Amino acid sequence: MDFEYSAKTKDLMDRVSAFMDQHVYPNEHRFEAEVADGDRWQPTKVIEELKAKAKEAGLWNLFLPESARGAGLTNLEYAPLCEIMGRVAWAPEVFNCSAPDTGNMEVLERYGTEEHKKQWLAPLLAGEIRSCFAMTEPDVASSDATNIESSIRRDGDHYVVNGRKWWSSGANDPRCKVFIFMGKTDPGNPNRHAQQSMIIVPRDAAGVTVLRHLPVFGYDDAPHGHGEVLFENVRVPLSNMLLGEGRGFEIAQGRLGPGRIHHCMRLIGLAERALEKMCKRVKSRIAFGKPVAQQTVTLERIAEARIMIDQCRFLVLNAADKMDRYGNKVAAKEIAMIKVAAPNMACKVIDWAIQAHGGGGVSNDFGLAYAYAGARTLRLADGPDEVHRNQIGKLELQRTQ
Ligand SMILES: Cc1cc2nc3c(=O)[nH]c(=O)nc-3n(C[C@H](O)[C@H](O)[C@H](O)COP(=O)(O)OP(=O)(O)OC[C@H]3O[C@@H](n4cnc5c(N)ncnc54)[C@H](O)[C@@H]3O)c2cc1C
Repeated sequence: MDFEYSAKTKDLMDRVSAFMDQHVYPNEHRFEAEVADGDRWQPTKVIEELKAKAKEAGLWNLFLPESARGAGLTNLEYAPLCEIMGRVAWAPEVFNCSAPDTGNMEVLERYGTEEHKKQWLAPLLAGEIRSCFAMTEPDVASSDATNIESSIRRDGDHYVVNGRKWWSSGANDPRCKVFIFMGKTDPGNPNRHAQQSMIIVPRDAAGVTVLRHLPVFGYDDAPHGHGEVLFENVRVPLSNMLLGEGRGFEIAQGRLGPGRIHHCMRLIGLAERALEKMCKRVKSRIAFGKPVAQQTVTLERIAEARIMIDQCRFLVLNAADKMDRYGNKVAAKEIAMIKVAAPNMACKVIDWAIQAHGGGGVSNDFGLAYAYAGARTLRLADGPDEVHRNQIGKLELQRTQ
């Protein structure tokens, strides 16, 4: 096994890091100030300006493997780049590599028709519009997607879509022009995994109403946000169906793998940054006659954080490699493993960094409270820990005769 990044990857890592140093870190305050100024739900100028710069620098759409439309990187090559972007919550969008768009673009690339690609994938890849993935529903336990109750009913040359979704990330963004919507086309099918389909719903279709945004621990995540959305008798052409009726789970399997591993890659970057902040703080802060860094509990935590971050990085790289070599389906166990490991690791590391900062840690001055809120959601979003552990456990049992 060769643990060295390739020359191509190293070059891109240098370029993404240099871009972060030059354009992203110096603008962290500007981003916050722009969101706080006026209508929070309008796109920021800073991101739009930086998107143009990233495109110019050739640091654009780095996420899309096995497609001439992407940058030609494998998951393994993309992993360290995504990690670097993950150090700042809004940075991935600058490189057109942010959730939920990357997952949605993968769906359109892998399962969309040429017409879907022209209408939706092209403007998404150009960073002109954004998108939303609408699966989770307030009324049912959506960690078991067979419970999803929304309906997609055929009526002549249209489908009629009805349902209430929540945690539809990005729905509040005025640039969000398209939803990938999951619902039942065949609720009576004895095979519960063949009941669901995914369909494209334009944001401006009659009957789509964003009811409210849902804050996370009080953070609104503006201008991106997470919405509760009502779909009332929304009519879309038959051609908006993705892959075919009853094939929603097949798409979910394809979509959620990449989406999940990207979250984990970003979480490693977020944890690295928290550890850096922690080390910086404890070296300069004196308590009881010596720097906090010299309290053995601090050293223990720093050491443990380093071990945990590196463990996770290796697990993520292993999962990425398996996806590249054998496909997302075969890598399901490795993806489930990192989806449990990375958010738990990041929560722990960020929590230690918060503790080392004292009261400052829970303020907005160091970005740690917000980082914790983000990492904590990923123990739920894209499937709660327990569901992934169940899957890992079952696969492990299958190995034992
Ligand atoms: C910030 C954020 C962003 C999100 N973005 C999106 C998005 O863009 N699109 C979208 O569709 N959804 C999104 N989600 C929703 C997310 O994917 C769901 O919240 C998640 O799948 C869990 O579903 P649920 O909330 O219905 O929890 P439930 O299904 O009600 O589960 C509740 C709890 O029950 C327990 N549980 C469930 N199953 C098992 C089991 N088998 N064994 C043991 N315990 C179990 C777990 O502890 C779980 O947390 C987002 C969520 C958050 C917080």
